[in-house]
Amino acid sequence: VRGEPVAIIVLGASGDLAKKKTFPAIFSLFYHGLLPTHFVLYGFARSPMSDDQFRELILDTLSCRVIDGERCQEKMNHFLPQCFYHQGDYYDATSFGNLNDVLTHGFEMEHPKTNRLFYLAIPPKVFEASCSNISINGRAHNGWTRVVVEKPFGHDLPSYRDLRSSLASVLTEEETFRIDHFLAKELVQNLMTLRFANVIFEPLWNRHHIKSVQITFKEHFGVEGRAGYFDHVGIIRDIMQNHLLQILSLLAMEPPVTLCAEDIRDEKVKVLRAIQPLKASDFATAQYAAKDSRSKGYLEDDGVPQDSRTPTFASCVLHINNARWDGVPFLMRAGKALDERKTEIRIQFKHVPGALFPVTNGAEHNELVIRVQPDEAIYMKIVSKVPGLTSRMEEARLNLFYRHAWEESKDIPDAYERLILDVIQGEKSLFIRDDELEAAWTIFTPALEELEDRSAPMPEVYHYGTTGPTGSDVLAEKYDVHWSN
Ligand code: NAP
Repeated sequence: VRGEPVAIIVLGASGDLAKKKTFPAIFSLFYHGLLPTHFVLYGFARSPMSDDQFRELILDTLSCRVIDGERCQEKMNHFLPQCFYHQGDYYDATSFGNLNDVLTHGFEMEHPKTNRLFYLAIPPKVFEASCSNISINGRAHNGWTRVVVEKPFGHDLPSYRDLRSSLASVLTEEETFRIDHFLAKELVQNLMTLRFANVIFEPLWNRHHIKSVQITFKEHFGVEGRAGYFDHVGIIRDIMQNHLLQILSLLAMEPPVTLCAEDIRDEKVKVLRAIQPLKASDFATAQYAAKDSRSKGYLEDDGVPQDSRTPTFASCVLHINNARWDGVPFLMRAGKALDERKTEIRIQFKHVPGALFPVTNGAEHNELVIRVQPDEAIYMKIVSKVPGLTSRMEEARLNLFYRHAWEESKDIPDAYERLILDVIQGEKSLFIRDDELEAAWTIFTPALEELEDRSAPMPEVYHYGTTGPTGSDVLAEKYDVHWSN
């Protein structure tokens, strides 16, 4: 069953991402019978570790989505003996040569047609050396070689172009799988189905009927110990330039010719290229401060320079210069240390022309809400007559709450499960193509340069646990939009 043998090699096996996401996802695929029958998992990193210690490390991370004690334990007992550790240095070609020897004279003796999947859970500074060593000493002898790369893909347009050309000199585009895990979230995957498998939305999906689009990402905690990473990046690069822009491209693209990865990605690139590059004036940026003695402000986190101007909150407005979207503002906001955890999309429709019904308080617009997380849901706000001997109208909802609608929603796979499965199957529609990134950095780089200039105003201050800065409301009001809180 399930195809050719595969060797999965996780670089950075001692790190946070590997423990938090990669190993649990690989085990979950195994648990659900979705890994090839013959597989082997190698952890690769500089830290000294025996195979047994590596198995212990993996064991600490494993969980079963469906908790069923005995079966889970039994599966773990079968999984762990397939896991091995190889100590090596990302810069050292010999380390990769030794790994190649171990695979060739070990697992691949019995399974000579083994494919090799390298998962790069390492900091970007070692991407280039690792890919080059994979290319020289790591390629599969008798099958495909695929390399999964995690964000960040550059810091701005010039650094992205440098990274792209150095990786392209050692790996083909076909071999490169750039992860944006938001694309594998259940509701994001459903966007195309919603738009193109239903007749009711597409005729309304344009400037004639849609007033504005809001895409929101909120976290209810701050950087909490990850400031060393975050302070160089900021919320715009961490969330907007990649995850939220990917959502926007799926919402705004034209229908693809087919559901093949290249056709979908062609349409995403087209719409991204139609977006006007952003300026600092298209943004409101802010940084959180402590609300009271129980919360910590951003500048109080270890490793944050006292004069840091890194935004922990940003909102911006994007304009798409094409026939479908001319004049429709697409607003995005992302922030840490806010009042709640939520990712959602709101498509607000124009008001009904003519004045047959009096405008009701707050209920004059239809709105389609797609709640990506938590508690996945799609609902449509409509205006409805209140039952009884009254002509009063109120806003009501047509609801699709996933947890009520589908038994399966109790067991939604983690995004990383879907992605690793797709890599094994060679399915690329949920991975980012190089020209998508070129277009994404083209949109954001001019604004980032302006905002990061020392002469630019400091970000506004907002308090931990609140709905965010007032500057964001002012920006939205310019476009007659009120953020939904
Ligand atoms: P990490 O824990 O900081 O690093 C992973 C491993 O890389 C470490 O265990 C370490 O292993 C090695 N390493 C660390 N610093 C190094 C250096 N300066 N030079 C050479 N090797 C070094 O990183 P991570 O959080 O797992 O993230 C890995 C990648 O995924 C990054 O590109 C990150 O941006 C991306 N990512 C992470 C998350 C997340 O939630 N953590 C989410 C999305 C994307 P050894 O010393 O044992 O070799």
